[in-house]
Amino acid sequence: MTQPPLVPGADPDTARQRAEAQAWRDRDLAVVWHPCTQMKEHPHTLPLVPIRRGRGAWLEGVDGTRYLDAVSSWWTNLFGHAEPRIADAIAAQAHELEHVIYAGFSHAPGLALAEALLAKAPPGLARVFYGDNGSAAVEIALKMSFHSHANRGQAGRTRFIALGNGYHGETLGALSMGDIPLYRRVYAPLLLEPLFAPSPDAYEAEPGESAEACALRRAGQLADLFAAHEGQVCALILEPLVQCAGGMRMHHPAYLRRAREICDAHGAHLIADEIAVGFGRTGTLFACEQAGITPDFLCLSKGLTGGFLPMSAVLTTAAVYDAFLDDARERGFLHSHSYTGNPLGCAAALASLAIFDSDDVLVRNRATAARMAALARPFAAHANVADLRQTGMILAIELVADRRTRAPFPAAERRGLRAYRHALERGVLLRPLGDVLYWMPPYCVGDAELEHLAAVTASAIEEATRA
Ligand SMILES: *Cc1c(COP(=O)(O)O)cnc(C)c1O
Repeated sequence: MTQPPLVPGADPDTARQRAEAQAWRDRDLAVVWHPCTQMKEHPHTLPLVPIRRGRGAWLEGVDGTRYLDAVSSWWTNLFGHAEPRIADAIAAQAHELEHVIYAGFSHAPGLALAEALLAKAPPGLARVFYGDNGSAAVEIALKMSFHSHANRGQAGRTRFIALGNGYHGETLGALSMGDIPLYRRVYAPLLLEPLFAPSPDAYEAEPGESAEACALRRAGQLADLFAAHEGQVCALILEPLVQCAGGMRMHHPAYLRRAREICDAHGAHLIADEIAVGFGRTGTLFACEQAGITPDFLCLSKGLTGGFLPMSAVLTTAAVYDAFLDDARERGFLHSHSYTGNPLGCAAALASLAIFDSDDVLVRNRATAARMAALARPFAAHANVADLRQTGMILAIELVADRRTRAPFPAAERRGLRAYRHALERGVLLRPLGDVLYWMPPYCVGDAELEHLAAVTASAIEEATRA
């Protein structure tokens, strides 16, 4: 597919551009330590791609190569790269007030964002505490939950329940709540030990069992776990509807409804980690809406600023907030981050929320999601595709060695990495989770772009699954 250059008249001197890109790579690999990467794989097994700009769903490399960003740059971007309305809002705010200490001080974007988030969040949430990344939001929710129980005379509630296959970030507390061995195993000696309840993941349903029946069976096991630890549990933490880092595994909303009831019955909090699934990814603004529930804590980040700035927010209830009001200083929540409530992040988030309204984003996304489903449908018949699943703007393709037994490929074969490199060479940023290929594109993605994505995905599946 031919694409117009991002900037008309972009430098046609490709030999010079290629040399420039190579020089950049060499300098970069001499000094930078990249995230979530075995650096020894650079540059031979894993290419390093220097990017000079982004527009819409596209990224442009230093050598002029263009990449369709099918993963929204780690699930952060909502409306396309360098979205001018968000960029302008940040620039305007930067000229007014870039940052101010948020303890004892207030500013317009921080206040407006708190009001806007509460107006859009599930009913019953009444307070906003800002953080500066997703893991920090999880830490805040865990600490607040424990501390609010302690302030109410329930200091014996020291355990958390987390779900199998869950993911909540990389700082020690957040990592503790995760169940992905690749990230957790090495650090296990340092971590908190939550109780793990089995994931309601519909892919793990018994033969013939519906997603809903599977969810309800898993909720029964959750209730048993709570009963076995009566009075010990602060909170249940989960990712509503889609366990993203765990391979885009999806579950029925019935699980969330039962989880809400079970937490209430046992006097525990429900922490909804919507860091990845919030802001429209699942079809509704927040995933909890599809179950009609309100969590005690709603953790938001990633898409919060439209993908522009690191920022997070934890929304909670008046009941939690009230538990901290006291004459004793240490009964207050003395947690802080230097950049709490950063005005630039708040301005970006406000501009992003305004786009949801002005562009009728959730309605348009319904058509986009339907188009994604239609284009991906043929993959379901592939001999190495065990599952094709979708929740709103998230679509995943589970590659396996044998679709009848669902036996995975040996991990050492790095099938997903093959797909990654293959797609990259064809101008698509498709970054599988293990052997799960997925689409989580920016919402501005167009028809022709989705067709391009589907064509490259089809050939990437072939490349990844051939002997
Ligand atoms: C990405 C993610 C986090 C961590 O957010 P960071 O900003 O990367 O620290 C936490 N929970 C979920 C569900 C995530 O997807």
